[in-house]
Amino acid sequence: MTTPGALDGRTALVTGGASGIGRAIAEAFVAAGAQVVLLDRDRTAVQQASAGLGAAAGVVADVSDEAAVRSAVAEAERALGRIDVLVNAAGILTQSPLVEMSLAQWQETIDVDLTGVFLLCRYVVPGMVARGSGRVVNIASQLAIKGGTSLTHYSAAKAGVIGLTKALALEVAGDGVLVNAIAPGPIETPLVEGISAEWKLAKQAELPLGRFGRPEEVAPTAVLLASSPGGDLYVGQTLGPNSGDVMP
Ligand code: NAD
Repeated sequence: MTTPGALDGRTALVTGGASGIGRAIAEAFVAAGAQVVLLDRDRTAVQQASAGLGAAAGVVADVSDEAAVRSAVAEAERALGRIDVLVNAAGILTQSPLVEMSLAQWQETIDVDLTGVFLLCRYVVPGMVARGSGRVVNIASQLAIKGGTSLTHYSAAKAGVIGLTKALALEVAGDGVLVNAIAPGPIETPLVEGISAEWKLAKQAELPLGRFGRPEEVAPTAVLLASSPGGDLYVGQTLGPNSGDVMP
């Protein structure tokens, strides 16, 4: 449940906004009063999601492509006037044992799941610093902390997201920009559809809820981190819905 009005007057760019966690966060932001632009590489899905949510715009870009990110951020700024909140939720997940993984598979995951977060921050955060205000919410993963079988590339990329989050939080907190990460446990979205049934069952047995989480269960944490005064409590923290961890 999201507090109505918690994001009144705020503007947000949500990557990966066409599906799963990004889409649920965008929906919760709109319900909380924010104006939202969705960014995704899936043209049809981002157009449908933007229309469905009443978003200000749906922008098509690959987060790992610097030129595409630069022009997508400019497009989002034109649609919104400015970007108060950046949510980095675009991501991919493939499974392969390290001993069989190609460099291309490793590189693609690092490019999308880690470099994509860098690129969005690189082009959005300067505007926040100039205005003395902003919020960045990066979607990491519990696999960054615990590791995951046949997921060395993904676990490493997400650990990188947590490191980036903490370091950037230190750099820009004095400029009024708060940077945080959410590290969800397994959440039922298209991302996990390709994962083996055995892995899913084994994971499910470990979870405190006894089931995978739902995207809408992650969204309220993003609203909290994007809003004031709640969001002011956290700087460079990693929160973990459905992880079994106690939130700090
Ligand atoms: P999802 O597949 O439902 O959504 C991911 C979205 O990102 C899709 O719309 C996809 O088109 C988009 N995307 C992928 N690559 C992109 C690129 N290069 N450029 C632009 N857009 C791109 O997955 P989800 O589960 O909602 O994942 C959202 C985030 O949450 C990801 O970063 C994922 O790693 C993370 N996460 C997911 C889980 C989970 O169990 N589902 C757990 C922890 C963290």
